[in-house]
Amino acid sequence: MQFETVIGLETHAELMTESKLWCGCSTRFGEPANTQTCPVCLGMPGSLPVMNKKAFELAVKAAIAMNCRLNTETFFDRKHYFYPDLPRNYQVSQNYCNLGVEGYIEIPVDGEIKKIGIWNVHLEEDAGKNMHVEYPGANFSLVDLNRAGMPLLEIVSAPDMRSVGDAESFMQTLRRILLYSEVSDCRMQEGSLRFEASISLNKPGETLTGGRVEIKNLNSMKAVKACLEYEIERQTKLLKGGQTVERETRLWDEIKGVSRRMRSKEEAHDYRYVPEPDLVKYRIDSGWLEQLQADVPELPVKRRARFIKELGLNEYDASVLTDEKALADYYEGVLEYHHSPKKVANCIMNEVRAILNEKKIDIAQFSVSCKDIAALVETEENGRITDLGARDVLGEMVNTGKDPETLVEELGLESINDTDDLEPLIKEAIEAMPKAVEDYRAGKKKAIGALLGQVMRLTKGQADAKTVKGLLEERLDSMGD
Ligand code: ZN
Ligand code: MN
Repeated sequence: MQFETVIGLETHAELMTESKLWCGCSTRFGEPANTQTCPVCLGMPGSLPVMNKKAFELAVKAAIAMNCRLNTETFFDRKHYFYPDLPRNYQVSQNYCNLGVEGYIEIPVDGEIKKIGIWNVHLEEDAGKNMHVEYPGANFSLVDLNRAGMPLLEIVSAPDMRSVGDAESFMQTLRRILLYSEVSDCRMQEGSLRFEASISLNKPGETLTGGRVEIKNLNSMKAVKACLEYEIERQTKLLKGGQTVERETRLWDEIKGVSRRMRSKEEAHDYRYVPEPDLVKYRIDSGWLEQLQADVPELPVKRRARFIKELGLNEYDASVLTDEKALADYYEGVLEYHHSPKKVANCIMNEVRAILNEKKIDIAQFSVSCKDIAALVETEENGRITDLGARDVLGEMVNTGKDPETLVEELGLESINDTDDLEPLIKEAIEAMPKAVEDYRAGKKKAIGALLGQVMRLTKGQADAKTVKGLLEERLDSMGD
Protein backbone atom coordinates (compact mmCIF):
# COMPACT_ATOMS: atom_id res chain seq x y z
CA MET A 1 0.00 0.00 0.00
CA GLN A 2 1.12 3.54 -0.78
CA PHE A 3 0.92 5.97 2.13
CA GLU A 4 0.45 9.69 1.80
CA THR A 5 3.30 11.70 3.31
CA VAL A 6 2.42 14.78 5.35
CA ILE A 7 5.26 17.17 6.16
CA GLY A 8 5.42 20.45 8.08
CA LEU A 9 8.50 22.53 8.80
CA GLU A 10 9.39 24.85 11.64
CA THR A 11 12.14 27.29 10.78
CA HIS A 12 14.25 29.47 13.04
CA ALA A 13 16.12 32.33 11.38
CA GLU A 14 18.55 34.64 13.14
CA LEU A 15 17.61 38.24 12.33
CA MET A 16 20.14 40.64 10.77
CA THR A 17 20.60 43.09 13.63
CA GLU A 18 23.76 44.55 15.13
CA SER A 19 22.59 44.06 18.71
CA LYS A 20 20.57 41.50 20.66
CA LEU A 21 16.80 41.53 21.18
CA TRP A 22 16.59 43.06 24.67
CA CYS A 23 20.03 44.55 25.30
CA GLY A 24 22.88 46.29 23.51
CA CYS A 25 25.19 43.26 23.32
CA SER A 26 26.71 42.53 19.92
CA THR A 27 25.39 39.70 17.73
CA ARG A 28 28.70 39.13 15.94
CA PHE A 29 29.40 35.47 15.23
CA GLY A 30 32.51 33.59 16.31
CA GLU A 31 33.73 35.77 19.20
CA PRO A 32 35.30 34.14 22.30
CA ALA A 33 32.71 32.46 24.55
CA ASN A 34 30.73 34.67 26.96
CA THR A 35 32.32 37.93 25.82
CA GLN A 36 29.05 39.33 24.42
CA THR A 37 26.88 39.25 27.51
CA CYS A 38 25.41 41.63 30.07
CA PRO A 39 23.07 41.36 33.09
CA VAL A 40 20.02 41.34 30.78
CA CYS A 41 20.99 38.43 28.54
CA LEU A 42 22.52 36.60 31.52
CA GLY A 43 19.12 36.76 33.24
CA MET A 44 20.36 38.57 36.35
CA PRO A 45 17.69 39.51 38.90
CA GLY A 46 16.50 43.07 38.53
CA SER A 47 17.54 43.47 34.89
CA LEU A 48 14.83 44.45 32.44
CA PRO A 49 14.48 43.88 28.69
CA VAL A 50 13.97 46.67 26.13
CA MET A 51 12.67 45.81 22.64
CA ASN A 52 15.14 46.17 19.75
CA LYS A 53 13.08 48.14 17.23
CA LYS A 54 15.06 46.89 14.23
CA ALA A 55 14.42 43.25 15.20
CA PHE A 56 10.71 43.96 15.56
CA GLU A 57 10.64 45.63 12.15
CA LEU A 58 12.43 42.75 10.47
CA ALA A 59 9.93 40.29 11.94
CA VAL A 60 7.05 42.41 10.61
CA LYS A 61 8.70 42.56 7.19
CA ALA A 62 9.04 38.77 7.17
CA ALA A 63 5.38 38.36 8.11
CA ILE A 64 4.38 40.69 5.26
CA ALA A 65 6.64 38.82 2.80
CA MET A 66 4.88 35.59 3.79
CA ASN A 67 1.43 37.07 3.19
CA CYS A 68 0.41 36.88 6.84
CA ARG A 69 -2.42 38.67 8.52
CA LEU A 70 -0.70 40.97 11.00
CA ASN A 71 -1.68 41.33 14.61
CA THR A 72 -1.05 45.04 14.83
CA GLU A 73 -1.41 44.87 18.60
CA THR A 74 0.81 42.20 20.00
CA PHE A 75 2.55 41.03 23.17
CA PHE A 76 5.10 38.45 24.29
CA ASP A 77 4.94 35.34 26.46
CA ARG A 78 7.25 33.34 28.67
CA LYS A 79 7.78 29.74 27.60
CA HIS A 80 9.06 27.78 30.59
CA TYR A 81 11.56 24.99 30.40
CA PHE A 82 14.87 24.21 31.99
CA TYR A 83 18.03 23.91 29.98
CA PRO A 84 21.53 24.97 31.08
CA ASP A 85 21.82 27.43 28.18
CA LEU A 86 18.64 29.28 29.23
CA PRO A 87 19.64 31.44 32.21
CA ARG A 88 16.13 32.50 33.28
CA ASN A 89 14.56 29.05 32.75
CA TYR A 90 12.08 30.60 30.37
CA GLN A 91 12.34 31.83 26.81
CA VAL A 92 10.56 35.02 25.79
CA SER A 93 8.54 34.12 22.72
CA GLN A 94 5.01 34.51 21.41
CA ASN A 95 2.19 32.04 21.89
CA TYR A 96 -1.14 33.82 22.40
CA CYS A 97 -0.75 36.60 19.86
CA ASN A 98 1.75 35.88 17.12
CA LEU A 99 2.95 38.81 15.03
CA GLY A 100 1.81 37.21 11.76
CA VAL A 101 -0.77 34.46 11.22
CA GLU A 102 -2.56 32.62 8.38
CA GLY A 103 -0.02 33.38 5.67
CA TYR A 104 1.40 31.37 2.81
CA ILE A 105 4.34 31.18 0.45
CA GLU A 106 4.39 29.98 -3.14
CA ILE A 107 6.98 27.38 -4.04
CA PRO A 108 7.93 26.03 -7.47
CA VAL A 109 7.59 22.24 -7.78
CA ASP A 110 8.10 20.50 -11.12
CA GLY A 111 7.35 23.64 -13.10
CA GLU A 112 4.19 24.43 -11.15
CA ILE A 113 3.49 26.74 -8.27
CA LYS A 114 2.28 25.24 -5.02
CA LYS A 115 0.89 27.21 -2.08
CA ILE A 116 2.19 26.24 1.35
CA GLY A 117 0.38 27.67 4.35
CA ILE A 118 2.24 29.56 7.07
CA TRP A 119 0.49 29.09 10.39
CA ASN A 120 2.41 31.79 12.14
CA VAL A 121 5.48 33.97 12.15
CA HIS A 122 6.72 35.26 15.49
CA LEU A 123 9.65 36.89 17.22
CA GLU A 124 11.55 35.29 20.11
CA GLU A 125 14.93 35.23 21.80
CA ASP A 126 17.55 32.60 21.10
CA ALA A 127 19.13 30.50 23.85
CA GLY A 128 22.85 30.10 24.47
CA LYS A 129 24.84 27.13 23.37
CA ASN A 130 25.86 24.06 25.37
CA MET A 131 29.27 22.76 24.47
CA HIS A 132 29.92 19.17 25.33
CA VAL A 133 33.59 18.57 25.98
CA GLU A 134 34.70 15.59 24.07
CA TYR A 135 38.09 14.55 25.37
CA PRO A 136 38.31 11.18 27.16
CA GLY A 137 37.35 11.27 30.80
CA ALA A 138 35.70 14.70 30.56
CA ASN A 139 32.67 14.72 32.83
CA PHE A 140 31.44 18.28 32.37
CA SER A 141 29.89 20.54 29.74
CA LEU A 142 30.37 24.25 29.09
CA VAL A 143 27.89 26.99 28.28
CA ASP A 144 28.46 29.92 25.90
CA LEU A 145 25.87 32.65 26.33
CA ASN A 146 26.97 34.87 23.43
CA ARG A 147 23.92 33.68 21.51
CA ALA A 148 21.48 34.08 24.43
CA GLY A 149 19.02 36.85 23.64
CA MET A 150 19.79 37.07 19.91
CA PRO A 151 16.67 37.91 17.91
CA LEU A 152 15.12 34.90 16.27
CA LEU A 153 12.27 34.60 13.83
CA GLU A 154 10.18 31.45 14.06
CA ILE A 155 8.16 30.42 11.03
CA VAL A 156 5.69 27.57 11.44
CA SER A 157 4.36 26.07 8.21
CA ALA A 158 1.11 24.22 7.80
CA PRO A 159 1.56 20.48 7.11
CA ASP A 160 1.01 21.16 3.40
CA MET A 161 4.04 19.38 1.96
CA ARG A 162 3.53 15.95 0.44
CA SER A 163 7.02 14.89 -0.53
CA VAL A 164 10.69 15.43 0.20
CA GLY A 165 10.83 17.48 -3.02
CA ASP A 166 8.14 19.83 -1.69
CA ALA A 167 10.11 20.26 1.52
CA GLU A 168 13.29 21.01 -0.37
CA SER A 169 11.65 23.63 -2.55
CA PHE A 170 9.99 25.15 0.54
CA MET A 171 13.32 25.53 2.32
CA GLN A 172 15.01 27.06 -0.70
CA THR A 173 12.14 29.45 -1.40
CA LEU A 174 11.92 30.50 2.22
CA ARG A 175 15.65 31.12 2.33
CA ARG A 176 15.44 33.31 -0.77
CA ILE A 177 12.52 35.28 0.67
CA LEU A 178 14.49 35.97 3.87
CA LEU A 179 17.57 36.98 1.87
CA TYR A 180 15.61 39.12 -0.58
CA SER A 181 13.81 41.01 2.15
CA GLU A 182 17.10 41.37 4.07
CA VAL A 183 15.64 39.82 7.19
CA SER A 184 18.33 37.19 7.80
CA ASP A 185 21.71 36.37 6.29
CA CYS A 186 20.65 32.68 6.37
CA ARG A 187 24.19 31.41 6.96
CA MET A 188 23.48 27.80 7.79
CA GLN A 189 27.06 27.03 8.78
CA GLU A 190 26.75 29.74 11.47
CA GLY A 191 23.36 28.45 12.62
CA SER A 192 21.47 31.46 11.25
CA LEU A 193 18.89 29.18 9.65
CA ARG A 194 17.71 26.01 11.42
CA PHE A 195 14.90 23.58 10.73
CA GLU A 196 12.70 21.16 12.59
CA ALA A 197 10.48 18.81 10.65
CA SER A 198 7.25 17.00 11.46
CA ILE A 199 6.19 14.03 9.41
CA SER A 200 3.40 11.50 9.45
CA LEU A 201 2.06 8.91 7.01
CA ASN A 202 -1.58 8.34 6.16
CA LYS A 203 -3.53 5.65 4.37
CA PRO A 204 -5.30 7.25 1.40
CA GLY A 205 -8.39 9.07 2.67
CA GLU A 206 -7.38 8.82 6.31
CA THR A 207 -5.85 11.41 8.59
CA LEU A 208 -3.28 10.53 11.20
CA THR A 209 -2.93 6.83 10.42
CA GLY A 210 0.46 7.15 12.02
CA GLY A 211 1.38 9.52 14.84
CA ARG A 212 3.10 12.77 14.03
CA VAL A 213 6.83 12.56 14.55
CA GLU A 214 8.89 15.70 15.13
CA ILE A 215 12.58 15.73 14.42
CA LYS A 216 15.03 18.16 15.95
CA ASN A 217 18.69 18.88 15.39
CA LEU A 218 18.57 19.50 11.64
CA ASN A 219 21.43 21.79 10.78
CA SER A 220 21.30 21.80 7.00
CA MET A 221 18.86 21.33 4.16
CA LYS A 222 20.74 18.16 3.35
CA ALA A 223 20.04 16.86 6.86
CA VAL A 224 16.33 17.67 6.51
CA LYS A 225 16.14 15.72 3.25
CA ALA A 226 18.07 12.75 4.63
CA CYS A 227 15.99 12.57 7.80
CA LEU A 228 12.69 12.82 5.91
CA GLU A 229 13.74 10.01 3.58
CA TYR A 230 14.79 7.94 6.58
CA GLU A 231 11.52 8.57 8.42
CA ILE A 232 9.36 7.72 5.39
CA GLU A 233 11.09 4.37 5.21
CA ARG A 234 10.97 3.73 8.97
CA GLN A 235 7.31 4.67 9.34
CA THR A 236 6.24 2.77 6.20
CA LYS A 237 7.87 -0.36 7.58
CA LEU A 238 6.09 0.01 10.92
CA LEU A 239 2.67 0.61 9.36
CA LYS A 240 3.04 -2.22 6.86
CA GLY A 241 3.99 -4.53 9.72
CA GLY A 242 0.72 -3.66 11.47
CA GLN A 243 2.47 -1.60 14.14
CA THR A 244 1.66 1.94 15.20
CA VAL A 245 3.82 5.01 14.77
CA GLU A 246 4.01 6.74 18.10
CA ARG A 247 3.64 10.48 18.48
CA GLU A 248 7.07 11.55 19.67
CA THR A 249 10.06 13.83 19.27
CA ARG A 250 13.18 12.33 17.72
CA LEU A 251 16.73 13.51 17.27
CA TRP A 252 18.56 13.22 13.96
CA ASP A 253 22.04 11.73 14.09
CA GLU A 254 23.70 13.16 11.01
CA ILE A 255 26.80 10.98 11.19
CA LYS A 256 24.98 7.66 11.56
CA GLY A 257 22.09 8.75 9.32
CA VAL A 258 19.42 7.58 11.78
CA SER A 259 16.80 9.22 14.00
CA ARG A 260 16.44 8.30 17.66
CA ARG A 261 13.63 8.76 20.14
CA MET A 262 14.23 11.77 22.38
CA ARG A 263 10.97 12.07 24.32
CA SER A 264 7.22 11.71 23.96
CA LYS A 265 5.71 14.81 22.39
CA GLU A 266 5.29 17.82 24.65
CA GLU A 267 2.17 19.96 24.36
CA ALA A 268 1.87 23.74 24.56
CA HIS A 269 0.40 23.46 28.08
CA ASP A 270 3.57 21.72 29.25
CA TYR A 271 5.39 25.02 28.81
CA ARG A 272 3.10 26.99 31.12
CA TYR A 273 3.02 29.97 28.77
CA VAL A 274 2.25 33.23 30.57
CA PRO A 275 2.28 36.78 29.17
CA GLU A 276 5.65 38.45 29.74
CA PRO A 277 5.14 41.14 32.39
CA ASP A 278 8.45 42.92 31.78
CA LEU A 279 7.54 44.03 28.24
CA VAL A 280 4.84 46.42 27.15
CA LYS A 281 2.27 45.68 24.46
CA TYR A 282 3.30 46.79 20.99
CA ARG A 283 1.09 48.53 18.50
CA ILE A 284 1.99 48.94 14.82
CA ASP A 285 0.29 52.12 13.63
CA SER A 286 -0.79 52.45 10.02
CA GLY A 287 1.98 54.88 9.04
CA TRP A 288 4.69 52.55 10.33
CA LEU A 289 3.02 49.58 8.68
CA GLU A 290 2.88 51.33 5.29
CA GLN A 291 6.55 52.14 5.57
CA LEU A 292 7.41 48.50 6.30
CA GLN A 293 5.19 47.25 3.48
CA ALA A 294 7.04 49.52 1.08
CA ASP A 295 10.31 48.04 2.35
CA VAL A 296 9.44 44.50 1.23
CA PRO A 297 10.84 44.02 -2.27
CA GLU A 298 9.36 42.05 -5.14
CA LEU A 299 10.03 38.44 -4.12
CA PRO A 300 11.95 35.89 -6.20
CA VAL A 301 9.04 33.78 -7.48
CA LYS A 302 7.20 36.88 -8.75
CA ARG A 303 10.33 38.41 -10.17
CA ARG A 304 11.21 35.23 -12.02
CA ALA A 305 7.72 35.08 -13.52
CA ARG A 306 8.01 38.71 -14.61
CA PHE A 307 11.40 38.10 -16.24
CA ILE A 308 9.83 35.27 -18.25
CA LYS A 309 6.63 37.07 -19.16
CA GLU A 310 7.75 40.64 -19.68
CA LEU A 311 11.39 40.27 -20.68
CA GLY A 312 11.00 37.07 -22.70
CA LEU A 313 13.71 35.12 -20.85
CA ASN A 314 13.59 31.35 -20.71
CA GLU A 315 12.92 29.63 -17.40
CA TYR A 316 16.55 28.71 -16.77
CA ASP A 317 17.94 32.20 -17.34
CA ALA A 318 15.17 33.75 -15.25
CA SER A 319 15.90 31.33 -12.38
CA VAL A 320 19.64 31.99 -12.39
CA LEU A 321 19.22 35.75 -12.62
CA THR A 322 16.68 35.93 -9.77
CA ASP A 323 18.45 33.48 -7.49
CA GLU A 324 20.17 36.35 -5.74
CA LYS A 325 18.55 39.75 -5.33
CA ALA A 326 21.79 41.62 -5.99
CA LEU A 327 22.28 39.82 -9.32
CA ALA A 328 18.70 40.49 -10.43
CA ASP A 329 19.09 44.15 -9.42
CA TYR A 330 22.31 44.38 -11.43
CA TYR A 331 20.66 42.85 -14.47
CA GLU A 332 17.77 45.29 -14.34
CA GLY A 333 20.25 48.08 -13.72
CA VAL A 334 21.94 47.29 -17.03
CA LEU A 335 18.59 47.14 -18.84
CA GLU A 336 17.89 50.72 -17.76
CA TYR A 337 20.79 51.85 -19.93
CA HIS A 338 20.29 49.40 -22.77
CA HIS A 339 17.03 47.52 -23.04
CA SER A 340 18.09 44.31 -24.74
CA PRO A 341 16.93 41.67 -22.22
CA LYS A 342 18.22 38.53 -23.93
CA LYS A 343 21.63 39.94 -24.93
CA VAL A 344 22.24 41.47 -21.52
CA ALA A 345 21.15 38.21 -19.86
CA ASN A 346 23.69 36.30 -21.99
CA CYS A 347 26.48 38.69 -21.09
CA ILE A 348 25.77 38.44 -17.35
CA MET A 349 25.11 34.70 -17.30
CA ASN A 350 28.27 33.91 -19.25
CA GLU A 351 30.98 36.58 -19.27
CA VAL A 352 30.22 38.34 -15.98
CA ARG A 353 29.57 35.17 -14.02
CA ALA A 354 32.79 33.62 -15.34
CA ILE A 355 34.70 36.56 -13.89
CA LEU A 356 32.83 36.34 -10.57
CA ASN A 357 33.66 32.64 -10.32
CA GLU A 358 37.27 33.14 -11.27
CA LYS A 359 37.77 35.93 -8.74
CA LYS A 360 35.56 34.19 -6.15
CA ILE A 361 33.55 37.35 -5.55
CA ASP A 362 29.84 38.10 -5.66
CA ILE A 363 28.07 40.68 -7.77
CA ALA A 364 28.17 43.27 -4.99
CA GLN A 365 31.98 43.25 -5.26
CA PHE A 366 32.02 43.43 -9.05
CA SER A 367 33.75 46.66 -10.08
CA VAL A 368 32.16 47.28 -13.49
CA SER A 369 29.13 49.59 -13.50
CA CYS A 370 25.76 48.69 -15.04
CA LYS A 371 26.27 51.59 -17.44
CA ASP A 372 29.55 50.18 -18.78
CA ILE A 373 28.12 46.68 -19.21
CA ALA A 374 25.22 48.22 -21.14
CA ALA A 375 27.70 50.05 -23.38
CA LEU A 376 29.67 46.84 -23.95
CA VAL A 377 26.59 44.84 -24.96
CA GLU A 378 25.53 47.65 -27.27
CA THR A 379 28.95 47.80 -28.95
CA GLU A 380 28.79 44.07 -29.61
CA GLU A 381 25.22 44.27 -30.83
CA ASN A 382 26.20 46.99 -33.33
CA GLY A 383 28.78 44.62 -34.76
CA ARG A 384 31.68 46.91 -33.82
CA ILE A 385 33.31 44.07 -31.89
CA THR A 386 32.88 40.30 -32.02
CA ASP A 387 31.84 38.20 -29.05
CA LEU A 388 35.47 37.20 -28.59
CA GLY A 389 36.46 40.84 -28.66
CA ALA A 390 33.76 41.64 -26.12
CA ARG A 391 35.24 39.09 -23.75
CA ASP A 392 38.67 40.71 -24.02
CA VAL A 393 37.24 44.18 -23.53
CA LEU A 394 35.35 43.07 -20.41
CA GLY A 395 38.51 41.53 -18.97
CA GLU A 396 40.28 44.84 -19.47
CA MET A 397 37.34 46.80 -18.06
CA VAL A 398 37.73 44.80 -14.84
CA ASN A 399 41.52 45.30 -14.81
CA THR A 400 41.68 48.98 -15.74
CA GLY A 401 38.28 50.43 -14.88
CA LYS A 402 38.15 52.06 -18.33
CA ASP A 403 34.95 52.20 -20.36
CA PRO A 404 34.39 49.90 -23.36
CA GLU A 405 34.56 52.68 -25.97
CA THR A 406 38.08 53.66 -24.91
CA LEU A 407 39.24 50.06 -24.69
CA VAL A 408 37.94 49.02 -28.12
CA GLU A 409 40.15 51.73 -29.61
CA GLU A 410 43.14 51.21 -27.33
CA LEU A 411 43.21 47.48 -27.91
CA GLY A 412 42.47 47.79 -31.62
CA LEU A 413 39.64 45.33 -31.26
CA GLU A 414 37.28 46.95 -33.71
CA SER A 415 35.90 44.14 -35.80
CA ILE A 416 36.80 43.86 -39.47
CA ASN A 417 33.67 43.66 -41.57
CA ASP A 418 34.74 45.79 -44.43
CA THR A 419 35.03 43.82 -47.69
CA ASP A 420 38.00 45.90 -48.84
CA ASP A 421 39.87 45.04 -45.66
CA LEU A 422 38.98 41.37 -45.85
CA GLU A 423 39.62 40.70 -49.56
CA PRO A 424 43.45 40.65 -49.34
CA LEU A 425 43.27 38.30 -46.34
CA ILE A 426 40.95 35.94 -48.18
CA LYS A 427 43.31 35.94 -51.11
CA GLU A 428 46.18 35.17 -48.76
CA ALA A 429 44.35 32.24 -47.17
CA ILE A 430 43.40 30.75 -50.53
CA GLU A 431 46.99 30.93 -51.72
CA ALA A 432 48.28 29.42 -48.50
CA MET A 433 45.94 26.41 -48.58
CA PRO A 434 45.70 24.92 -52.07
CA LYS A 435 44.66 21.52 -50.69
CA ALA A 436 41.60 22.92 -48.95
CA VAL A 437 40.67 24.84 -52.08
CA GLU A 438 40.97 21.70 -54.19
CA ASP A 439 38.85 19.69 -51.73
CA TYR A 440 36.19 22.37 -51.64
CA ARG A 441 36.00 22.60 -55.39
CA ALA A 442 35.81 18.80 -55.59
CA GLY A 443 32.59 18.96 -53.56
CA LYS A 444 33.89 18.60 -50.02
CA LYS A 445 32.15 21.75 -48.81
CA LYS A 446 33.39 21.24 -45.27
CA ALA A 447 36.91 22.11 -46.39
CA ILE A 448 35.87 25.76 -46.21
CA GLY A 449 36.30 25.49 -42.43
CA ALA A 450 40.08 25.37 -42.74
CA LEU A 451 40.12 28.50 -44.92
CA LEU A 452 37.74 30.30 -42.61
CA GLY A 453 39.99 29.42 -39.67
CA GLN A 454 42.98 30.81 -41.52
CA VAL A 455 41.28 34.16 -42.18
CA MET A 456 40.14 34.37 -38.55
CA ARG A 457 43.74 33.75 -37.44
CA LEU A 458 44.98 36.48 -39.77
CA THR A 459 42.47 38.93 -38.23
CA LYS A 460 43.15 37.72 -34.68
CA GLY A 461 39.48 36.76 -34.38
CA GLN A 462 38.23 40.24 -35.11
CA ALA A 463 36.44 39.43 -38.33
CA ASP A 464 32.79 38.56 -38.41
CA ALA A 465 32.80 34.85 -39.29
CA LYS A 466 29.56 35.05 -41.28
CA THR A 467 30.85 37.82 -43.50
CA VAL A 468 34.13 35.98 -44.11
CA LYS A 469 32.35 32.75 -44.97
CA GLY A 470 30.14 34.55 -47.49
CA LEU A 471 33.14 36.19 -49.14
CA LEU A 472 35.08 32.90 -49.24
CA GLU A 473 32.20 31.05 -50.89
CA GLU A 474 31.77 33.81 -53.43
CA ARG A 475 35.47 33.68 -54.30
CA LEU A 476 35.81 29.88 -54.35
CA ASP A 477 32.64 29.31 -56.38
CA SER A 478 33.76 31.77 -59.03
CA MET A 479 37.27 30.31 -59.38
CA GLY A 480 38.26 28.96 -62.74
CA ASP A 481 35.05 30.22 -64.36
ZN1 ZN B 1 23.27 41.47 26.80
MN1 MN C 1 11.09 28.64 18.75
